[in-house]
Amino acid sequence: MGQHSSASASRLLGLDGFEVLAAEVVGGEWRLVVQTTAELVGCARCGVRAQAHGRRTVRVRDLPAGGRPVVLAWRKRIWRCSEPACGVRTWTERVAAIRPRAVLTERARAEACRRVGKDAHAVAAVARDLGVGWATIMRAVEDHGTPLVDDPTRLDDVAALGLDETSFLKATRVAPTRYVTGLVDLEGGRLLDVVADRTRAAVAGWLGARPRDWLATVGTVALDPWRGYASALVAPLGHVTVVVDHFHAVRLANTVVDQVRRRIQQATLGHRGRKPDPLYRIRKLLLTAAEQLTQRGRVRLRAGLAVADPTGQVAAAWQGKELLRAVYAAGDLADARAALDRFYRWSDGVGVAELSRLARTVRVWEAEIVAFHATGGCSNGPTEAMNLLIKKVKRVGHGFRNFANYRLRLLLHCGVRWQTHQTARLRARSPRLVA
Ligand SMILES: [Zn+2]
Repeated sequence: MGQHSSASASRLLGLDGFEVLAAEVVGGEWRLVVQTTAELVGCARCGVRAQAHGRRTVRVRDLPAGGRPVVLAWRKRIWRCSEPACGVRTWTERVAAIRPRAVLTERARAEACRRVGKDAHAVAAVARDLGVGWATIMRAVEDHGTPLVDDPTRLDDVAALGLDETSFLKATRVAPTRYVTGLVDLEGGRLLDVVADRTRAAVAGWLGARPRDWLATVGTVALDPWRGYASALVAPLGHVTVVVDHFHAVRLANTVVDQVRRRIQQATLGHRGRKPDPLYRIRKLLLTAAEQLTQRGRVRLRAGLAVADPTGQVAAAWQGKELLRAVYAAGDLADARAALDRFYRWSDGVGVAELSRLARTVRVWEAEIVAFHATGGCSNGPTEAMNLLIKKVKRVGHGFRNFANYRLRLLLHCGVRWQTHQTARLRARSPRLVA
């Protein structure tokens, strides 16, 4: 292609108001010489028709084309005002597609934000693909992502709210593990927000910032009762049904099974669990839901307990965990109450300290546990799913240091509806097999 405008290349570029003057592949990259097509421009101050005053070439990267990186050499116009009485002399043209001093086109920045946010790709990987620095991509994520996250309609229509903690920064030698609290729309299955810390104050602050009619829409809150969250709800959400969901109750029961297993290991072996120790080897089976154990798993579990649990306390804790699970698995409220009684009788009877403690906690939260059935089995499944997504974002982020950055990335991945162009299938029907 020579130094003349190519209409087809310009259409292929698809950058509004730009035309392609030349295109060549240099070092594996497309180099496109482009310029705007504007010819009639008025002075911003006096409105008099501006006169062309030369060009200055700036280079920006655009979206890849045909698998190759693209560099635009934009012959940026310089205009001059010809009105002697006007104070304005010259200026360079401005376009929405390429911001002043940008190294990426706006659409490349938007795409970078989509890849980091929606697809949870690493900032460094996107930076590498586009041939720019990490900070350039992170700024694009902030610029294009923040309006999506700040959109007030993003939080609309929440009927059931889930609260859960998740670790943000793992403990180091000098600092304890830092946690954040995730707020989840349990029906819509999306992350509403994350707040720093897992305290009552953190949640209260977030709820306090919500409008009254938003709060009125919330009918159910599912939470981890072993955090201070519940008291944060009292003032703003006094009308809601608080539920201790399945997920959190089972998590606590599993902790009890683990505690008893560790204590028995220590007592019988004189050391912490090691790989060949029979109880250590069944530690995961002990936490698996009984009905999900395979035949082989069941045999291994029984064998492990037979050799390494002489007092039967690990088995007793395991049974307690299963009885608490049965409360949630019950078909209705009456069944749930009966299952709860079985759990209490067992936990009070076997004399395992950790299990007795669990039973005391369950008694304190009995109404909220049973409410699980009154609310039609308010599921915290979305919270669990959200925890997995959060872990994924954390993994690609290689451990975040900056909370604002972490929050933005999480919300872009699990809390925003992305408008995406649905690519049409090239073949409407399945292709015939060619022999
Ligand atoms: Zn002027």
